[in-house]
Amino acid sequence: MAWDESFTCDICGKMKLESNHWWMVTLGDVFCFEADQPPKHFSIVPWNASESRNEDVHHICGEGCATKALERFMSTGTLAKEVHLGSMHV
Ligand SMILES: [Zn+2]
Repeated sequence: MAWDESFTCDICGKMKLESNHWWMVTLGDVFCFEADQPPKHFSIVPWNASESRNEDVHHICGEGCATKALERFMSTGTLAKEVHLGSMHV
């Protein structure tokens, strides 16, 4: 088969093509000292087909989105887009 699966970038939504050099990001599974703490570790590893279906793995299409993912992690602790809950005064 030409395409292994239709993965999309967790940051920009771009679809993975076979030739793309993608990366995988995992959060917080390296040193998880306390289960109820938010993820505090950002790990980026080269694409790995067998791990890409792991639901804890985020799919990143390239260094631009890897940078965005890191920025999100540093500001929110997750890779989710900034949540706008009305006006937050921090
Ligand atoms: Zn992307």
